[in-house]
Formats: sequence, C-alpha cells, structure tokens
Amino acid sequence: MIDIGANLSNPTFDNDLAEVLQRAKDAKLQAVIVTGTSVESSKAALALAEQQPNFLYATAGVHPHDADSYNNDIEKQISAMLGNSNIVAVGETGLDFNRNFSTPDNQRHAFEAQIALANHYQKPLFLHERDAFEDFHSIISANKNEQTQAIVHCFTGSETALKAYLDLGLYIGITGWISDKKRGANLREIIKYAPLDRLMIETDAPYLTPQQAGLKNQLSKKNRNEPWTLPYTAATLAECLGVKTEVLIEKTTENTNNFFNLVS
Ligand SMILES: [Zn+2]
Repeated sequence: MIDIGANLSNPTFDNDLAEVLQRAKDAKLQAVIVTGTSVESSKAALALAEQQPNFLYATAGVHPHDADSYNNDIEKQISAMLGNSNIVAVGETGLDFNRNFSTPDNQRHAFEAQIALANHYQKPLFLHERDAFEDFHSIISANKNEQTQAIVHCFTGSETALKAYLDLGLYIGITGWISDKKRGANLREIIKYAPLDRLMIETDAPYLTPQQAGLKNQLSKKNRNEPWTLPYTAATLAECLGVKTEVLIEKTTENTNNFFNLVS
C-alpha cells in the first residue's frame, strides 16, 4: 500500500517525523510520495526522499495557491530538480478557483508551464483541481501529448468531471474525504464509475483525516492526519466499489508503481 500524497515537509511534522514514518511502516505502507507545493517545499520533499530512498519519494512543482509567484527563476529551480530520480512527478499543479489565493490567470499560466515541464522531462503530473473543472479540462486536453500521464489527486468533483477525466486517460486519487459523512456522500456514490486500474489512494496528510469512528482519538497530534491512516481510506473505497480491501490495495499499489515508475 502506497500513500501517493503526503505533505511531510509541512512544519507540523518537524519534531516527530521519524515516529510518523515508523507508524506508517507499522501500518504496512511500502512507500510514501511527499508532495511538493513550492520550490521550498519541493526541495524539502526531495531532501526527505534522498534520506530514505525506496521508502520516500517526492514531487516537485508549484501549487495553484502559489501560482502568483511562478516565474522563470522558479521554473528553472523546479526544472533542476526534475532530473533527479527521487522526484517522481511534476506537481502539485492545477487550478483552484475555490479559494483563488492566486489569480485565475496566473494559475492557468503556471499550470500550462508545468504540463510543458512534465512533457519535456517525461514525468507524470500530480494534479489538483477544485471548482475549476471546465478550465482544467480544457488546459490539460490542449497541452498533454500521447505520453503524458496525470493523476487528479484528492478528487472531490462531480460525476461529469470524473467521467471526463477518465475519458482523457487520467488517474484518480482518493483521500479520506470519501469517508466524510456529508462532504463525501456524492463521491461514495459516483466512484463506482472509475475502473480499479485508474485509482490510487492517498492521505493528503496533515489534512483530511478519515472520518471513521474513533480514529481521531488515535492521532498523536490533534487534528493532524498521518500516512498510517491510509488503510481506513482503502477500506472505505473498497466498500464503495464492492471489492475486497486486499484486492483494492493490491490493485492501487500496482497502479502506483507503474504510474510513478517506482523501484519496487
Ligand atoms: Zn491538492
């Protein structure tokens, strides 16, 4: 079982990362991909991956929230990291019109530029989309090529969006959002349209703690999600799809190894 998205360079993990990683291993996680969201956090993610090769991997990119800062210098620094084999994807990048922390125009520009980087370096894309389906779909369609591989991480969108992304050949990442009683209801209903060979699982730690009863009390730090909770999301997703949890885990792990070209 592999967590394809954990923000382990977030300062909330500064004091006890070794314990956090041990708990992940105890929960039978074989690897964790550490998400980069800016030059700084991508460098920090890469440093972690270099310390624990074959257990931690990293992505490098600029999150839509930080798109206002995207310029040639930032692009050069991201490019410089993409030749490193510990960096397994470009991202996260994409569009977030829910909060618009960066202007929509800057988000579109940074997104297009990072798709070009992924095409150039032949790395998969780790994508984020919130309330931006139409623009996101048209940008990825127009800029991807035959070889471009992409995953829409933390998918929380509509049935229309899900089907359109699958038609484009994209992969879908599922977080603890799916166990949220209210916010996850639609996702639990529609996720059956995604074939097992297009799904992966992630925690998005320290965010999006799964909502199973009693789980919150087991967190070592209040309101901080950790990779060890991933089996809970695997179980919920398996239930929605009507498959055994072991089958779900085996299939999503295989998808992850192939997609990110991990050494296993
Ligand atoms: Zn995201």
